Amino acid sequence: MRLVFLGAPGVGKGTQADKAAAHYGICKISTGDLLREAVRNQTPLGLEAKGHMDRGGLVPDSVVIGLVREKLADSSIASGFILDGFPRTVPQAEALAKVLNERGLHLDRVINFEVSRKEIVRRLSGRRSCPKCQATYHVDFAPSKMGNACERCGEALTQRSDDQREAIEMRLRVYEEQTAPLISFYEKQHVLSHLNGAETVDAVSQNLLQMLATYQTA
Ligand code: AMP
Repeated sequence: MRLVFLGAPGVGKGTQADKAAAHYGICKISTGDLLREAVRNQTPLGLEAKGHMDRGGLVPDSVVIGLVREKLADSSIASGFILDGFPRTVPQAEALAKVLNERGLHLDRVINFEVSRKEIVRRLSGRRSCPKCQATYHVDFAPSKMGNACERCGEALTQRSDDQREAIEMRLRVYEEQTAPLISFYEKQHVLSHLNGAETVDAVSQNLLQMLATYQTA
């Protein structure tokens, strides 16, 4: 299975990509995770990306396309992959098609996760994570039993700089302007399916796997 998970920030793409990747035994490739790792390791790429990410803007296409191109060259993607958070612009989608085409591959399905703006803001603004072990929490849906400390390692929890109110507004604006056009881009290629992402994690996951099963046997 070669899949793209599309949708605004906060729709749950990453969580669902983890679950589906485990279910199918395939790789999840998250450009957000790759970029955050580069920022943590203070690599030249991380230093370039940090300012864009903190503001809630997009990292330049050439940078993320290079990252994904490298990942797709890896033998670990032989049985499939889920791209989470990539592509986010039409030039990225065109570059992805080119890279796959060069390898004689194509996308099986693009899943567009739909969640209301109000719910997205609630989800993103309540997210917390552990800077030491990367465990994630949510103040309403999955609070740490240790208050503002990590249950696993005791470290003080932090909020991603791009989950602060102004950056959230910016990310949603960027999504509307640059990423939402991918819906019609993939619709025209007849590979797009819409999925309601507003239900519980388990319900969305069940609906997703049911939907994907119909394409596996098709
Ligand atoms: P995410 O974890 O997917 O919400 O990504 C966090 C941030 O990383 C985004 O707000 C962007 O600044 C950057 N980023 C992730 N994926 C991309 C991409 N495909 N293109 C450009 N920037 C990206």
